[in-house]
Amino acid sequence: MPDIAENISRIETTLKQRLVSLGRREDDCLLVGVTKTHPAEAVCSALQAGILDIGENKVQEATQKLPELSRLAPDSPYRFHFIGHLQSNKVKALLRLKPFLIHSVDSFRLASAISEQSETPSDILIQVNTSGEASKSGLEPEIAQAEIMRIAELKRIRIMGLMTIGLLAEEPEAARPGFRMLKELFDDLAKTDHPRLRMRYLSMGMTDDYLIALEEGSNLVRIGSAIFGNRNYGGK
Ligand SMILES: *Cc1c(COP(=O)(O)O)cnc(C)c1O
Repeated sequence: MPDIAENISRIETTLKQRLVSLGRREDDCLLVGVTKTHPAEAVCSALQAGILDIGENKVQEATQKLPELSRLAPDSPYRFHFIGHLQSNKVKALLRLKPFLIHSVDSFRLASAISEQSETPSDILIQVNTSGEASKSGLEPEIAQAEIMRIAELKRIRIMGLMTIGLLAEEPEAARPGFRMLKELFDDLAKTDHPRLRMRYLSMGMTDDYLIALEEGSNLVRIGSAIFGNRNYGGK
């Protein structure tokens, strides 16, 4: 069992130091603890260690875990981020869990489904495929800006920023060009004046590449293994 509190404290310290050395405010990056595959007890330890934001990538897993977490930590004001690939037929179940932010909206069709089924506006990020890997979800960069403007016309969503998954390679440096590309798009969109387009979160960086992402302007990192240890996908 990894020392979750110590891991969180180490990552928070590293984040602060790097932000300051980059000339940014030390609280200019949100740390989302990615809790997929880990039991509610482990998530509870992370909340006790000061994490406020947790990320899950499957609707079904979150549907089971979050009520359990609320029983274990009834007073925690934690915020749930949905970071995984989302199918339209799971939107209703996801919205019931009241996500703080849905990171992984990658089509107009999915955004429409979210808008249609939201009673109050849902905050979303648009996922862009910056790595060119066919296996990754996300809008293609060439069409992203035009699609985002279409999505911004939907009434019950608010686009709060962009998300990407860095190129997976032996060298984390390999993710840098994709991160840089997304930051450029983020800055371009930030100049657009539209009530449902607010470039507040630039969600990029995971355990292996979060410092590179930070250097390229990320203000939200999604970290799993470095907090909770390796994931075990095999059955228990
Ligand atoms: C699993 C996952 C993470 C966390 O990955 P680690 O390498 O364990 O930090 C971040 N983002 C997404 C979208 C994920 O699915």
